[in-house]
Amino acid sequence: MENRVRRWLHGRDLAVWYAPEYRWPMSALESRTGFEPRRADFVFWYLLDERVLRRRNLRTPRRAEYHEMARVHTPDLLESLGTSRTLARVFSLDPGDVPVDETMRTVRLACGASIDAAREMLSESNPQKLGRRAMNLLGGFHHARPDVAGGFCPVNDVAIAVAAVRAEGFRGRVLVLDLDAHPPDGIAACLAQDPSYWIGSISGSRWVSLQNVDEIVLQERARDEVYLGALDELLGRMPEGELAFVIAGGDVLATDPIGCLGLTLEGCRERDLRVADALFRVPSVWLPAGGYTPDAWKVLAGTGLVLGVHSRAPVPEGYDPLVAKFSAIARSLLPENLGDPGDEMDGIAEQLGIRTARSSLLLGFYSAEGLEHAVERYGVLAHLRRMSYGPFRCEIRDEGVGQSAKLIDIPSGEALIETVLERRDVAGAHMLYVHWLALRNPHARFSPERPQLPGQEVPGLGLAREISELLVRMAARLGLEGLAFRPAAYHLAFRGRGTMRFVDPGRQGRFEALMDLLKGLPLVEATRAVAEGRVLLDGAPYQWEADEMVKWIEPRADDRAAIDQARSAARFSLATA
Ligand SMILES: [Zn+2]
Repeated sequence: MENRVRRWLHGRDLAVWYAPEYRWPMSALESRTGFEPRRADFVFWYLLDERVLRRRNLRTPRRAEYHEMARVHTPDLLESLGTSRTLARVFSLDPGDVPVDETMRTVRLACGASIDAAREMLSESNPQKLGRRAMNLLGGFHHARPDVAGGFCPVNDVAIAVAAVRAEGFRGRVLVLDLDAHPPDGIAACLAQDPSYWIGSISGSRWVSLQNVDEIVLQERARDEVYLGALDELLGRMPEGELAFVIAGGDVLATDPIGCLGLTLEGCRERDLRVADALFRVPSVWLPAGGYTPDAWKVLAGTGLVLGVHSRAPVPEGYDPLVAKFSAIARSLLPENLGDPGDEMDGIAEQLGIRTARSSLLLGFYSAEGLEHAVERYGVLAHLRRMSYGPFRCEIRDEGVGQSAKLIDIPSGEALIETVLERRDVAGAHMLYVHWLALRNPHARFSPERPQLPGQEVPGLGLAREISELLVRMAARLGLEGLAFRPAAYHLAFRGRGTMRFVDPGRQGRFEALMDLLKGLPLVEATRAVAEGRVLLDGAPYQWEADEMVKWIEPRADDRAAIDQARSAARFSLATA
């Protein structure tokens, strides 16, 4: 078929299911598993920005009903999902970190969307069904069996969607093309009794052999060419079908710590293009499944670009969806709503003999009301409400050095977010200096799944990216050149490594050498090794250097030569126990 016609048909009928509640509400999910809980948000924002999605493409998920899930799952399994213990096991988290109702809300919305997507693909309004595609930005929970949940899959949305359309009389063959890095054990178990199905899978892990799956298991870290060759083989064997589910897993990337394949982002895009072409005459529901690296969202965004506009264009290097979204929100926030009362207010206050309004403003600009308005608009409060906090108030106080701002959970009186800020010159530039920043989740507790990091008094909120971006927006609004802080421990510098640099290139080089040494260790272990003096520099215990790190709003080039020189000169080693 003419490529132009194909492209037009691809985009025309794409239906996309997304809800802000697709963000998982567990605060340790990201730090513990590498899974980006904001993946659906990132992809949705990006596809909107790129104009791949328009209003007519959007669908609103609804919660799956219990009777719909009960077509596939046992009553015991469904009952157990009402406890934090079961959900914590499914997601490898501590039970204290799993708000049951909100977690199940996310699960049931994704599941209801997979059902509705399958229904819409089969509806009679387009009898030819050419080019008909659905994409659910959460789902593909392929490991859940009828009676066992596990591996990030509380229920099996694919099997539940199949059961729903079967119950409505659909008799055609269902195709499941599982391209996650892990085998579809749950789907195979759930569909075992289905009258007409085919499951094909390419993975990088051999678990048990699945009798009812056309399964290809590739060698570890198999690259694009090998993978795409196997895909062509599998697609060649795929029978005719009337409804397809594509599990377009994001954990096939070479960098993935849980998946064992070796694909690039281009390889993933080519995968999706070939599958979309092979399924051109079959209505299909596309689901994201796994993905445990910061780049996993780009795999799913790529799937959207394929289904929407048949595009090979990469997501631009350095594009950060959170930064893009927050800058857009910042542009929509008016200064008068953030607290700047203007000069005439100062004058009035002085005439009335009361202290000037300006002295109670954070950095001479933000009022407590204005801060609360801002954190609401940036989505921070909505997320905290899902973690059972709120209502909230903000508090601003002058401290000995700088000013503190707190976001307080009114019922418990606990400060959830606390920072001490000041304008200060660093590296010859006017900066927003962060003396202190604590994100506190007093509902959670430390455990083997959630180990305590130096300086942590209670576990964190999982909102570090939002809050740092918010501070960057503040600095930009105040006309400052960036953020600066002194990381008191290794993990704080490590978390900032993507966008922050030590001011001194020599220090940055030593830090990079230290990261090289500690690369294989979990962050908590690495941080402890440094804090406990088990890291040696030139044979002597290394004392962490809490020097200034900066993040420039307008990115500046690194002094790479000086950094690399210090990096290769630093002789770090680990003391043997
Ligand atoms: Zn997987």
